[in-house]
Amino acid sequence: MNLSNLLLRIARMDPDRPAIFNGTQLVASHAQWAARCARLAGHFQAAGLQPGDRVALFMRNHPRYLEVLFGAWWAGLVVVPINAKLHLREAQWIVDNAQARWAFVTADVTSEMGAHFQGLERVVDVGSVDADALWAAEAFEGLNGIADGDVGAGLRPITTRQPDDVAWLFYTSGTTGRPKGVMLTHRNLITMGLTYFNDVDAVTAQDTIVYAAPMSHGAGIYAIPHLMAGARHAVPASGAMDPDELFALGRALGPLSLFAAPTIVKRLVDQAQATQQSPQDCALAFKTIVYGGAPMYAADIERAIRVMGPRFVQIYGQGESPMVGTALSRQHLMDVTHPRHAQRLASVGVAQTPVQIRVTDTDGQDLPLGEVGEVLIKGDSVMAGYWRNPQATALALRGGWLFTGDMGMLDADGFLTLKDRSKDLIISGGSNIYPREVEEVLLTASGVAEVAVVGAPDAEWGEVVVAFVVPQAGVTLDLAALDALCLQEIARFKRPKRYEIVAALPKNNYGKVLKTELRQRLQTPLIPFKSQTGDTA
Ligand code: AMP
Repeated sequence: MNLSNLLLRIARMDPDRPAIFNGTQLVASHAQWAARCARLAGHFQAAGLQPGDRVALFMRNHPRYLEVLFGAWWAGLVVVPINAKLHLREAQWIVDNAQARWAFVTADVTSEMGAHFQGLERVVDVGSVDADALWAAEAFEGLNGIADGDVGAGLRPITTRQPDDVAWLFYTSGTTGRPKGVMLTHRNLITMGLTYFNDVDAVTAQDTIVYAAPMSHGAGIYAIPHLMAGARHAVPASGAMDPDELFALGRALGPLSLFAAPTIVKRLVDQAQATQQSPQDCALAFKTIVYGGAPMYAADIERAIRVMGPRFVQIYGQGESPMVGTALSRQHLMDVTHPRHAQRLASVGVAQTPVQIRVTDTDGQDLPLGEVGEVLIKGDSVMAGYWRNPQATALALRGGWLFTGDMGMLDADGFLTLKDRSKDLIISGGSNIYPREVEEVLLTASGVAEVAVVGAPDAEWGEVVVAFVVPQAGVTLDLAALDALCLQEIARFKRPKRYEIVAALPKNNYGKVLKTELRQRLQTPLIPFKSQTGDTA
C-alpha cells in the first residue's frame, strides 16, 4: 500500500485527463504527473535516498508541490511539509528534528536575510533551472527511460510500503511549545481520503479542488480524495489566497472545491457581498467549501450560507487525526426546520465514518451526554505517534484513543459541540467558563467583527473573563450594550469583566487566534489598551 498507487491507477485508467493547473493553465495530465513522479523517484534513488528517509517541503503553494509529494512517496520516502510562513530558523528546527536529507523550496520562503538551510544534502528551488533539469524528460533517459506521459511498462516501479509506514511527518502548528512531528501513515491518509466521500462530499472527475489554504496542512492532503476520484487540481497563479482571484478561477475552470479556515471563509463571503453576487453567482465559482481548523461561530456560518448558498461542510480534526474527527454535513447545515438546528449549527457535527468519539473526565471515564469533558478519537485515521518522542506519544495515545486536548460535549444524536481547548477553560470563582459561549454571544452584537475571550489572573476570583473585541471598520462600540447583551444571553458570572478593543487579533500562520499571546498581554497590564469609547481597561 503506497499512496502513489492511487496516482498510477488513475494515470493508467485515464492518462490524458487534465490533472494539475497553475491558475487556468494546464501543467500536467494524470499521465504526465505520474511519469514526473516516477522520474523524481529515480533521482532520489540515484542519490542514495532509502525508503523511510525524509524529504522536507518548505514551499509556498505551487503546482510542483503535488509532483514532489507523490514523487517522494513513489520512492517510499517520508514527506515533511513545512508551513511556508514559518521563519527560516523555525523551518531549520523542523528539518533538523526530522533529519531530512533533501528539501524542496520556493525561493521566496528561503531568501530571508540571505540565510540558507544547513545540514541537507540537497536543496532544490522548484522554480530554478536546477529543478527544471530534475523535471526534464531527457535527464531521465539513463534512469528509467520514460517519456513525459508514458505510463506503460517502462515506468520505474513504486516502492512497496506497508500500511503503517510513515508517509507524512506533519509538525503541529504549535500554538504552545515546540512543534511535534505527527507520524501519519499511508493507512491514515488513505482512510482520510476514502472518508471524504461519505462524510464530506461526493467527488467526480469533473470537479476541481483549489489550494487556497497552505498545502503543508490539511488543504494539501485533500489532494488524496480528489486524486482517488480523478478530479482536477488547481493552484492559484498567485500562490496566495485572494478572494477575487478565486472567484475568477472558479468561473474559468468550473466550480471549485476547497478547504478554508473560518477566516478565509469570511473573506470569501465579504467578497461575494462586496461584489453583490447572488448565491446562484457563487454556485458558478464554488461547489463545496469545507471549513474547519478553528471555531466557526454560528452567526458567521449563517451569514455565509445566506450570502453564498448551500455549499458548506464543516470538519473537525487535528494534525493527529488529519481532517477526520467529526463532520457537519451540508444537509445538517441546511436543515433549518429541525428543532435542534441552532445547537447543531454551533456544533462540529457527528463522528466521521471511520472513527469513534468519546467525551471523558480527567480519569478517562465516559461522561453523561451534555457534560463537558475531553474529546477522544479512535480509528484508522489516528497517527502512529509523535516522531522520536515516546513521552508525548504516551500522553496523547492511551488505550488506542487519541486524547485531543479539546473540550466538548455530545448530545443524544451524536453531535459534538466543542467548548474549548482544555487550556483555554476559564475558572472564575470556582465556576467553569468556556470562552466559546461568551464569544458566540458577543459575535451577534452589531458592529463586532471578531472576538476572543480569555481569562486574566485575579486576586479575588482566581480568573476573570476578558473579551478582546475587534470592531467592524468605522464602528464605535458601546460597551454597555455588549454587557447588556451578555446579561440577556448567558449567566451573569460568565460575562466579561473587562473589554479590550483591538484593531486585530494575534493569529498563527493557519489563522488560529493565539490565546496564549492574549493571556500574556494580560499578565503584564502595564500598557492599557485604549478602548474606542475612550475608556482604558
Ligand atoms: P491542527 O492540529 O493545527 O489542525 O489544530 C487542530 C485543532 O484545531 C483542534 O484540536 C481544535 O482545537 C481546532 N479545530 C479543528 N477543527 C475545528 C472546528 N471545526 N471547530 C473548532 N475548532 C477546531
